[in-house]
Amino acid sequence: MKDNVIVRFDNVSKSFNNTNVIKDISLDIYEGEFITFLGPSGCGKTTLLRMVSGLEKVSSGKVFIDNKDVTNVDPTKREVNTIFQNFALFPKMTVKDNITFGLRMKKENPKEIEKRCKEVIKLVKLEGFENRYPSELSGGQQQRVAIARGVIMNPKVLLLDESLCSLDLKLKKSMQVELKRIQKKLGITFIYVTHAQDEALSMSDRIAIINNGVIEQLGTPSDIYISPKTVFVADFIGEANIVDGKVISQKDDNLTLSILNNYKINIKTSEVFKKDEIVKVIIRPEDVKISPNTLTNAINGKITDFIYGGENTKLIIKIDDNNSLKSSVTDEERYSVGKNVYIKFEEKYIVALRK
Ligand code: ATP
Repeated sequence: MKDNVIVRFDNVSKSFNNTNVIKDISLDIYEGEFITFLGPSGCGKTTLLRMVSGLEKVSSGKVFIDNKDVTNVDPTKREVNTIFQNFALFPKMTVKDNITFGLRMKKENPKEIEKRCKEVIKLVKLEGFENRYPSELSGGQQQRVAIARGVIMNPKVLLLDESLCSLDLKLKKSMQVELKRIQKKLGITFIYVTHAQDEALSMSDRIAIINNGVIEQLGTPSDIYISPKTVFVADFIGEANIVDGKVISQKDDNLTLSILNNYKINIKTSEVFKKDEIVKVIIRPEDVKISPNTLTNAINGKITDFIYGGENTKLIIKIDDNNSLKSSVTDEERYSVGKNVYIKFEEKYIVALRK
């Protein structure tokens, strides 16, 4: 089904009061995929989502849903549903009445409504809660009601606007798994908007990183994490050490760079760089390998910070007055603040980007 385009942005721009907040975006979203618009506050991701639902009009360009040009179609006539950040449940209606509201408005057959309600309640694991009111539910249960209310309409696309952000961390983690499970089971296209990179990485088939009204990079979570195309993306997704490097030589896709006071590294790249060009070098903390024992041909540094993190502990290591590196370790018992360490790199994952 991957080839079936369900939502298409065709050179879409949007201005508010002469300020261009979406800048000529073209994007195809495929049937059945979970795509996330990820970016910092104010980058334009909600505006982009609202142009799918029709709650926001485009300034130029076109929006298609299931091959139909919906650019000027009223929001109520578009086959999409939105789940808002605050869930927007009706406080005076029971769970069941909230979930079936849309179908009742459409005057669906009551028997059919009953059947579909049972199905979605089972799907979101809310059996036994049918007659409760929203105020009698936890945040996670309210979230499930909102999802059920959206999916019962069988929309072509479900739009989720920061839908997990009001939940506490533990609930958020379990709802990430739930959302993904529900999405895969139903095969409905989910467009999810968030500024939280962990949510995007854990749930999405593809992520569109939005920065200042443009898509800075589009790809699978691992593509984006392993091969960021810009410094902004590298910095926004996961944690990164970003240091200057100088090109020593390049032979085909083998690039030799000098970083951190003439330390030589050899990396792979598909880009062509010039000799002596200054580049930005992206090194993930897990690729900064440290040892308390003397290593030859290693960088020497001193631990200045120890941030315990359960599975992974993060250390900040001072190399000199201008440079520090973050390293993620699993053998934290060997280290403490003030200790000298020797550093090498997992070079195959290091990325060089043009400045
Ligand atoms: P956040 O994560 O903070 O919600 P966002 O990436 O979703 O941010 P948008 O809500 O899409 O950002 O807003 C993009 C830009 O457009 C912002 O600079 C915002 O101030 C502006 N904007 C959004 N809606 C309007 C409006 N109705 N009138 C004027 N400016 C607006």
